[in-house]
Amino acid sequence: MIDLGHHDVLILGGGPAGLGAAWELAEAGARALVVEREEDTGGLCRTHARGDYRFDMGGHRFITADRELLDRVVALLGDELLLSERTSEVALLGRRFKYPLEPGDLARKLPPRLAARALASYLRQRLRRDPSPPRSFEEWATRRFGRVLYELFLGPYTEKVWGVAPRELSPEWASQRISVTDLGEVARTLLRRALRREDPAPPRTYARSFLYPRLGMGQLFEAIRERALEGGAEVLCGATPAALVREGDRVSAVELNTPQGPARVRVGAVLSTIPLPALLELVEPELARTLAPSLHFRPVRFLNLGLRAARVLPTTWRYVGEGELRAGRLQEPNKRSPAMAPPGRSSLMIEIPHAAGDRIDRLSDAELLAYMRGELARLDVPLEDAPPLVFSVRAPEAYPVHLRETPAARERALRAVDQLTNLRSYGRQGGFRFIFSDAALRMGIEAGRGWLADSLPPSVELARIASARTLTEVRSVVGES
Ligand SMILES: Cc1cc2nc3c(=O)[nH]c(=O)nc-3n(C[C@H](O)[C@H](O)[C@H](O)COP(=O)(O)OP(=O)(O)OC[C@H]3O[C@@H](n4cnc5c(N)ncnc54)[C@H](O)[C@@H]3O)c2cc1C
Repeated sequence: MIDLGHHDVLILGGGPAGLGAAWELAEAGARALVVEREEDTGGLCRTHARGDYRFDMGGHRFITADRELLDRVVALLGDELLLSERTSEVALLGRRFKYPLEPGDLARKLPPRLAARALASYLRQRLRRDPSPPRSFEEWATRRFGRVLYELFLGPYTEKVWGVAPRELSPEWASQRISVTDLGEVARTLLRRALRREDPAPPRTYARSFLYPRLGMGQLFEAIRERALEGGAEVLCGATPAALVREGDRVSAVELNTPQGPARVRVGAVLSTIPLPALLELVEPELARTLAPSLHFRPVRFLNLGLRAARVLPTTWRYVGEGELRAGRLQEPNKRSPAMAPPGRSSLMIEIPHAAGDRIDRLSDAELLAYMRGELARLDVPLEDAPPLVFSVRAPEAYPVHLRETPAARERALRAVDQLTNLRSYGRQGGFRFIFSDAALRMGIEAGRGWLADSLPPSVELARIASARTLTEVRSVVGES
């Protein structure tokens, strides 16, 4: 077995949460080793470049309400950080609606009888005013939007993205994901604006502007990795943990599978950002098996097309509301930064949620393109005959699925991890939370600071910090791109 020596902190996973900790630790001179499964770091925030075409995994943007983090990111990237404008729409019933949903736009574009039914069902819900907490996403959404809008868009779209009936989903993630929390709030905001004769801009729950690195979201995390390496951190790619070696209630070493063969690293502490079920398998395999049905992920496949055309979509991205179409969202990367495609050309990224091993998973890139060509035609998106670049990227753990039983299962799993006093699990995968990259970075920074202060925050606490932050953030900057 290869001996990798001793490291102060072993970080499992080289996405934003892992790199955030490496950055913090390296700035203080601690010896950190980042172990990453893939051939490169960045996690879901990687940008894949092919020639002059660049594609994020789902088209990211950097938004945060965290002043300290923002200052650090601005200092790191300087002029490479662009300020972009977001515009988005929903394709539904063969029409295109503004997103977030706006009452005026809905009223104008929905067939009149459907619009009247939607309004009546929304008003019925408002009058009902059920004080009990919603038990599922379905209850949460119907109470806010009425049953008609729910059945038209939110229900089918949610089922497509998560692969689970909305009545099985916890309402927990909804407030973090849905851009408009309440149509009444939107109506009131628009009315206030109208009375004050202000520009009828979107409601405050919607961030129009966002920061974006010139060369794609991945550029930020490459810069963070470089800073961590300069500070003495090390990165080992293509490697995964195989076993934890324990001494009492501590982890003294971790066995790894590496491209060079099995290896062992002695550790002061382990900060894990790999999927919580995978870590639990190493900590308490029986519990991992018990909790597995409540802690699973929804994969997404991204089909990336480099085009000759200069322009494809009128907006930065489009949600595909039709439940029978497999595409979830379409994005045109050069709407975020012109450097995402060669001069005078554009590109298209199609986000396709799916189940492991299903038809979408099994198709080759060429077959997937043929399949999506049919969907694009239905969506009125022109696609040239032979795009010069076609490739797909897979994210097996794109969405932690928040079932109704997930919060309790996550708490049990994190508490089991916390039994080992120098092991912590956090981040989107490790904390099993639907968070943005800024929250993942902040969790990493807090975990790193905790280790430096000889007081690692428990995983359950790290998860709570992110949750509170995300909820506050939703009031002002909302929604995953
Ligand atoms: C479609 C989509 C759009 C999004 N849009 C935005 C956006 O606009 N803005 C935003 O801020 N956030 C956005 N996010 C969320 C953002 O990507 C995540 O919050 C962030 O990447 C979480 O960082 P993380 O380090 O916790 O997890 P990840 O990024 O998933 O990183 C985890 C890392 O662990 C590695 N790993 C997994 N298993 C192992 C193992 N066994 N051993 C070693 N390594 C392992 C993975 O390869 C990965 O590199 C989006 C996410 C998706 C899916």
